[in-house]
Amino acid sequence: MNKQQVKERIEKLRQEINHHRYLYHVLDKQEISDAALDSLKHELDELERKFPELITPDSPTQRVGGKPLDEFKKVQHKLPMLSLTDAFLFKEIQEWETRNKKLLPLETKLDYYAELKIDGLAVALIYKKGILWKGATRGDGKIGEDVTENLKTIEAIPLRVNLENFSQSIQKKVAEELEVRGEIFMKKADFDQLNEIQEKNKQPKFANPRNAAAGSIRQLDPKITASRKLSFMAYSLVTDLGQKTHQESHELLEALGFRAGTNLNQYCPDLQAVEKYHSEVNKKRNSLPFWIDGIVININDQQTFGRLGVVGKAPRGAIAYKYPAEQATTVVEDIQVQVGRTGALTPVAHLKPVRVAGSTVARATLHNEDEIKRLDVRIGDTVIIQKAGDIIPDVVKVLSKLRTGKEKKFKMPVTCPICGSKVIRRTGEVAYYCSNKNCFAIQKEKIYHFVSKKAFDIEGLGPKIIDQLLENNLIKDVSDIFSFTASDLEPLERFAEKSAANIIEAVEKAKKITLARFIYALGIRHVGEETAIDLANHFRTISRLQKASFDDLNKIYEIGEVVARSISDFFRDNRNLQLIARLLNQGIKIKEPEVRKKTAASGKAFVVTGTLPSLSREEAKTKIREAGGKAASSVSPSTDFVIAGDNPGSKYEKAKKLGVKIISEKELLNLLK
Ligand SMILES: [Zn+2]
Repeated sequence: MNKQQVKERIEKLRQEINHHRYLYHVLDKQEISDAALDSLKHELDELERKFPELITPDSPTQRVGGKPLDEFKKVQHKLPMLSLTDAFLFKEIQEWETRNKKLLPLETKLDYYAELKIDGLAVALIYKKGILWKGATRGDGKIGEDVTENLKTIEAIPLRVNLENFSQSIQKKVAEELEVRGEIFMKKADFDQLNEIQEKNKQPKFANPRNAAAGSIRQLDPKITASRKLSFMAYSLVTDLGQKTHQESHELLEALGFRAGTNLNQYCPDLQAVEKYHSEVNKKRNSLPFWIDGIVININDQQTFGRLGVVGKAPRGAIAYKYPAEQATTVVEDIQVQVGRTGALTPVAHLKPVRVAGSTVARATLHNEDEIKRLDVRIGDTVIIQKAGDIIPDVVKVLSKLRTGKEKKFKMPVTCPICGSKVIRRTGEVAYYCSNKNCFAIQKEKIYHFVSKKAFDIEGLGPKIIDQLLENNLIKDVSDIFSFTASDLEPLERFAEKSAANIIEAVEKAKKITLARFIYALGIRHVGEETAIDLANHFRTISRLQKASFDDLNKIYEIGEVVARSISDFFRDNRNLQLIARLLNQGIKIKEPEVRKKTAASGKAFVVTGTLPSLSREEAKTKIREAGGKAASSVSPSTDFVIAGDNPGSKYEKAKKLGVKIISEKELLNLLK
């Protein structure tokens, strides 16, 4: 994107975010999920970080959402109630530390206090003479709504703080004024119960506990709030009671009679400890009685925290390290068609890679043409995708207000992208089909061949997995093998994270390939291993082979007319040339055959039979080829040598009958020198 495009994108994102924030914070309504909205905010934040000159004071990143309702009295916050920057990856947390360290040239080491990020509603509580005097919502960060009477109904909020264990001087400070901030939330069980009651009373159900908590606290009748069973967890002690660290402030809060999560939160001497805590919490978060959407990392030292100050709407000294959401927004870069087992053509959205539910996603299924029409999804659109559990992600919604006018509508191809046959639509069915009944089977065989031992030799990528990849529309042709990610594999049946990673590694390794193997992998009719080697040695690069005419090919001694015709036809077919171009685009590096010195084996034909003492049969063949010899699989009058190991079998007998010279492995190795 150039700067003008970024500017337009930023403006559109702001409008969209503002629209949804207004719905959510002012009207307590929701059109898209929190996760999708977060995803949009994240994109805006990243664009503004790259182009800080495009930040305007009214950008959603610059203020805390929400507008006080007119029904409530306004409360001015003494210190603004900030919100937090979101991060989803450990890398982003590390970058956050690096940014902070740049601003703190004297600190060599930062330590942290990490705490649960409860999915609720932030409030400020003010105590005078130790008694709850006022409570307010965050509002827009500067001005909140006075909801004191409602907060008083929440039993987790002490109406009078506990001062027994404190010194005279602290008691005096607290008596003057104490401000505590924390999260109002609803426990999972209470939320479920509330929704049951709503249903019974034919009232609308709440979308999530945060929604329910917000709706309950902003009731004009405190009796309704009281019936909703809300909870409270303190996270910040605003008043200075001498606390030096964030951890101490939590301990003080508990001593004052608040719940502040000290049994759940953790001091972390460094970011490694933070990462460990983040993943431990993730493992147990389903069993927690309340919902959390991540952890909050605070720089522990209060002075350092203060020195870092505020950027936009958020303190620099803290960051939210969130758990992956199941929805995210991204851009559809292309829509391609894949042919399935039944011959059905499935459109697949190729996405700008995005993190969702813990992995990077680059594709989503669009099912069929009707679904594309229903969603009205176009190439270039910003969409919400959803990945629930272990399934291939879906496109759930198009954010059409983010369009620039350059989006392209998708059209179902009239010919099959795999075999070029006509595409048909059977009456009464939504799917289009390739009219060639063997299309899928041929394609499958091609892929099996492509990854086989003598071709790309991709370990772990066997027929079973290839079948699943094809059935789930994760690959269309062999070039897709080089672009899929571990997350494409993980949803497949019984696929462990580890084996997915192993395959990705094997694919990466396979990107370096000899020219002979590459030619063999293409699966040209009549071109076996030996012919591929001959072609590689003769043409030395794939582009020279592609350009070779039938006559050029026919002139080669080892290549007959039928084979030459087949090779030349293959390279005249545009689809094959496009496939090769795609493969090279995926980063495949083809090794040119080495120019060899002549050895006694050059030009000679060998057959290996039986078990050799040190080399495997494949190793022996490779060595023969490297020395300029030919390794054949059957004995004929033109065979020069048969290398016989233990239990040589019929080839040995045939060699004896034909009078072919029989040698040992040792003699072979001498010949190859
Ligand atoms: Zn086809």
